Amino acid sequence: MIKHQMIDSELIALDPRIELISTARNFYDKGWMVGTGGNLSAKLLDGSFWITASGKSKGSLLPSDFVKIYPSGKKYQKFSDTRPSKETAIHQTIYELFPKAQACYHILSVKANLVSRFVQEDILALPPLEMLNKLGLMEEIFHCTMPIIDNNFQASKIAANIKERFQAEPPKIPALLIRDHGVTVWAPSLEAAQNYIEAIEYIFCYMVSARELGIWNEADNIIPRSNKRINPLLQTPRRGLRYRIGS
Ligand SMILES: [Zn+2]
Repeated sequence: MIKHQMIDSELIALDPRIELISTARNFYDKGWMVGTGGNLSAKLLDGSFWITASGKSKGSLLPSDFVKIYPSGKKYQKFSDTRPSKETAIHQTIYELFPKAQACYHILSVKANLVSRFVQEDILALPPLEMLNKLGLMEEIFHCTMPIIDNNFQASKIAANIKERFQAEPPKIPALLIRDHGVTVWAPSLEAAQNYIEAIEYIFCYMVSARELGIWNEADNIIPRSNKRINPLLQTPRRGLRYRIGS
């Protein structure tokens, strides 16, 4: 069993495309990569990475529907009409900023878009759910936030904003939201990246449902001056308030 697992991980390290095809199909079935939406990438030992090609349905990818991007920027395309994802610059930036990242997944879920509109600020407070501990954090974080980056038709501008922001202040969790667009995670393995996407979707699902029930409002997660943990379920809902997080 252990031997088989080792062989599997070695094969994935050599060529992760079969694993990425399976993950894309899984996310497609969940409605997180509808049509050609979203993109997945996985890094290889030489620093290059495979990324999904542009304009391909994520429900029926083939190994030829990927492009390999080398650190120099050089591309390997099996067919000349297969282009790398238009958002390749975002993946390049993530791998540059986080050298331990081996996979970068980006999905366009309805819940991700809804929660990105919960605040006007560029940061989203997350509820203190146990699920946060599934994001590979080294310590418990009582007041966890997710950065929000403004959307832009040009992915290179989104990538530049991510780089500028994270160089100034790295995020506490390996994830970011692009407003009205989708969520991106990065992880030390493909398996971890899939788990992070699922954990974050669970948290977004909770936030949307709890808001409908009136038991969660981002204002309830303002970082307090004391270091006490806030339980939003015990707080009176404060709908429609404008607030600043972390002030
Ligand atoms: Zn996108």
